[in-house]
Amino acid sequence: MKSSSRLDLIPPYLFAELERKIAEKKAAGIDVISLGIGDPDTPTFPAVVAAGQEALADPTTHQYPSNRGRSEFRDAVADFYSRRFGVELDSDSEVIPAIGAKECIFNLSLAFLDGDGLALAADPGYPVYTAGPKLVGADAHLMPLVPELGFVPDLAAIPADVARRARLMFFNYPNNPTGAVAPEGFFEQVVEFAREHDILAVHDNAYSETTYDGYVAPSFLATPGAKEIGVEVFSLSKGWNMTGWRCAAMVGNAEAIATYWKLKSNVDSGLFEAIQLAGARALQPDMAAEVDRMCDLYARRRDLVCDALAAAGVAVTAPKGTIYIWAPIPDGYASASEYCEYVLEETAVVISPGGAYGPNGEGFFRISLTTPDHLLTEAVARIAALGTRTTA
Ligand SMILES: *Cc1c(COP(=O)(O)O)cnc(C)c1O
Repeated sequence: MKSSSRLDLIPPYLFAELERKIAEKKAAGIDVISLGIGDPDTPTFPAVVAAGQEALADPTTHQYPSNRGRSEFRDAVADFYSRRFGVELDSDSEVIPAIGAKECIFNLSLAFLDGDGLALAADPGYPVYTAGPKLVGADAHLMPLVPELGFVPDLAAIPADVARRARLMFFNYPNNPTGAVAPEGFFEQVVEFAREHDILAVHDNAYSETTYDGYVAPSFLATPGAKEIGVEVFSLSKGWNMTGWRCAAMVGNAEAIATYWKLKSNVDSGLFEAIQLAGARALQPDMAAEVDRMCDLYARRRDLVCDALAAAGVAVTAPKGTIYIWAPIPDGYASASEYCEYVLEETAVVISPGGAYGPNGEGFFRISLTTPDHLLTEAVARIAALGTRTTA
């Protein structure tokens, strides 16, 4: 069987490969601890599950949903954006459900890129920022995240011919994988750049509710002018422990939303309405206390991991947001993947090599905090005990 040449252009999805390796070890009776994928280990909040159960029993949710979404969901998203971010959205034209952010980000490439077009993609970044453009037969131009600038791209360094071909820009703060939060003034720079080059700015907002030390993350849409040139992909997956539900929304520019809607109505049949109603429940004000408790839990795990790594001589910075620790690999390894494979072989702990998120992630590894405390403690102790390898 011959697969499409488009599919040959992209590597296998990082975590698909990891899952295979883990399964192999587990089959061999090895006790593997995975700190690879970011997938909350705590269940969805009980009130959200209850709302989902009730909605599941309601026959009005059993038929095809409309791609446009139920008004309960769109209104809940708009109310949340107003209350939480001070962003006013028209729930009729500026909000649409998505079957997870991943689907949405991929489909934006399908909706906005032609063969000669390209997407500007944060590097390191969420793999779909580059796989999406390639799968639709277009291209991605990597924007290196510059540590000295606070892990944001240097927009002035984007070549003029690249800016001319660019139709989309993908960026994300609080940032996966680096844990960085958006520095003051960066979103304003994006608005100016997108306006100048007629680019749709796509802010991937997966972690605005998962922050620490009193830091409160803004929405990109709170930036003056952002709604004229941009959208935000808002996911309930991480902040509300809802990765399995596939519940997200795209919000912002009405024209971009209409375009995405046109595409979606030809590709999928909408987000299950019971999930939309559960999502609407998750966005009610009283759930903020549950979200805060999750932040406390992750902050404790973050400290546990950072302390152990620092004690083992790793130059690690505690992030203000996300569920990840991003740290440089120790000396003596040719690449991050070599280090991560060594860690897996020696300690049966899975960590992600930075290079899997793009060439600028090389030299770093990522640890996800979505593992129960006792396993996380055990895993970090194993890594710390490994020390530095002397023979490269
Ligand atoms: C987890 C993650 C997503 C995926 O969100 P879903 O709504 O579960 O598809 C998107 N972007 C980033 C940066 C993520 O870390």
